[in-house]
Amino acid sequence: MKTIGLIGGMSWESSLEYYRIINESVRDQLGGLHSAKIILYSFNFAEIAALQNEGNWDAMAAWLIGAAQTLEQAGAEVLAICTNTMHKVADPVQKNVTIPLVHIADATAEAIQAKGLRKIGLLGTKFTMEQDFYTKRLADKYGLDAIIPADDERNAINHVIFDELCCGQVKSSSKEQFCTTIHNLAANGAEGIILGCTEIGLLVHQQDVKVPLFDTAIIHAQAVARFALEQSNGSFQ
Ligand code: GLU
Repeated sequence: MKTIGLIGGMSWESSLEYYRIINESVRDQLGGLHSAKIILYSFNFAEIAALQNEGNWDAMAAWLIGAAQTLEQAGAEVLAICTNTMHKVADPVQKNVTIPLVHIADATAEAIQAKGLRKIGLLGTKFTMEQDFYTKRLADKYGLDAIIPADDERNAINHVIFDELCCGQVKSSSKEQFCTTIHNLAANGAEGIILGCTEIGLLVHQQDVKVPLFDTAIIHAQAVARFALEQSNGSFQ
């Protein structure tokens, strides 16, 4: 079993889920007392969010490269960045380490392709929904057509992510709002919905809506665990 290096704390609310899901996956596969070998580098999310708001992606790339190199030096054999948004700097991170990075969009796209879907709604931070680092990868590498909510809905989703979910608040009014947005995306032709922020799964669950949901935190954590157990075909690299 490979040692997993997690770049987390963005926010720690979802890093906790990664820790739980990866360990559950290893226990499911190996049984007994088996658990995952994990090294966690956890950022202070307030410092990251400040740089996000400044648009200082070069500084964030430098910080994540430093974290990745620290994890590699500490013995990590595979890396995961536990947030969709920060995959904006996934390429420079991968270029500056020798161990593989399991990319969250690749793991998610493969789960969507396995269900035979092509047109897909994307919920996430405004960075993830509005910039092209995520949707372009889905389109170019997997032929997926990602659609995003209307402007006012994007603002509302972004607000809930940063001011509620990343602060540990789960509100039923926000859940209703997300379900309405998901319904609207489905009415616009989305065959499935990417929960493209690792905290959204804390709020919305499959039983809340009819359209298939793809929870990136679960899919990514399980893909990393498979890779660590050498059951992956390596296509996430
Ligand atoms: N965890 C979130 C994501 O998956 C948002 C936090 C961030 O901006 O990194 O995008």
